[in-house]
Amino acid sequence: MASTPSASTPVISIKGVNKIFKQGSDEQVIALKDIQVDIFPGEFISLIGPSGCGKSTLLRVIADLLPPTNGDVKINGKTPAQARLDRDYGMVFQAATLYDWRTVSANVQLPLEIMGYSAAERKQKAQQMLELVELGKFGKHYPWQLSGGMQQRVAIARALAFDPPLMLMDEPFGALDEFTRERMNLELLRIWEQTKKTVIFVTHSIAESVFLSQRVVVMSPRPGRITKVVDIDLPYPRTFETRELPRFFELVTDVRETLREAHSY
Ligand code: ADP
Ligand code: MG
Repeated sequence: MASTPSASTPVISIKGVNKIFKQGSDEQVIALKDIQVDIFPGEFISLIGPSGCGKSTLLRVIADLLPPTNGDVKINGKTPAQARLDRDYGMVFQAATLYDWRTVSANVQLPLEIMGYSAAERKQKAQQMLELVELGKFGKHYPWQLSGGMQQRVAIARALAFDPPLMLMDEPFGALDEFTRERMNLELLRIWEQTKKTVIFVTHSIAESVFLSQRVVVMSPRPGRITKVVDIDLPYPRTFETRELPRFFELVTDVRETLREAHSY
């Protein structure tokens, strides 16, 4: 189904994955059904679908936070459990989940602390990451002194701190106002282009998915299936003007119609 933009080995290979919650009970939910997709090094992929279609479940299966009911997931050829041990990925959630009693720098250093980096290394790495998200001057601030957009940038800096090749992002800008979200989209693309990470980005905003991605994976609810993978052939770097291109509207329409078709099953 998915086109293959590169002949290289996939970073993530998902084959025939199903996830059934409360299997066999009256409350059984087929959250994922026969999910099949390969994601290649350096790709920016969005998962889009209405609330409850299984986007977070799929991300959690990839991140080894949930076992699939059946099917196969490989990350760099390894099981999700091994990839987790090897710290192959960083995660960013909708809520920034920062510790209010730690400074911004200390929040970014947290994963490095857990990994046993020295204090000097931690400090230097955190500063580097804060500069990457343009918060170089805010290391000594506390999270509650920052705006929602800035807090999300701190969460991104923290996820990038140990330099994972893969970023899993679950509606990271979902709680931000539209204007801040558009700026964060540009910021994220700049970081992606600079760091060459593979990004899997969950959203329920059609415009956001088209603006950011090379491919948009469209999901349908109950059971959560992939209905289509839309190739986004807009050039990079993408800018504020990208959203005004006729091709942008065509692609947004394509994703929207795919979502609508999926709903009429
Ligand atoms: P999305 O992120 O696309 O909004 P989710 O992946 O969170 O959707 O949920 C997909 C479906 O699985 C929903 O119907 C949800 O209620 C159900 N679900 C998610 N997690 C659990 C769980 N731990 N136990 C039971 N049902 C769950
Ligand atoms: Mg979700």
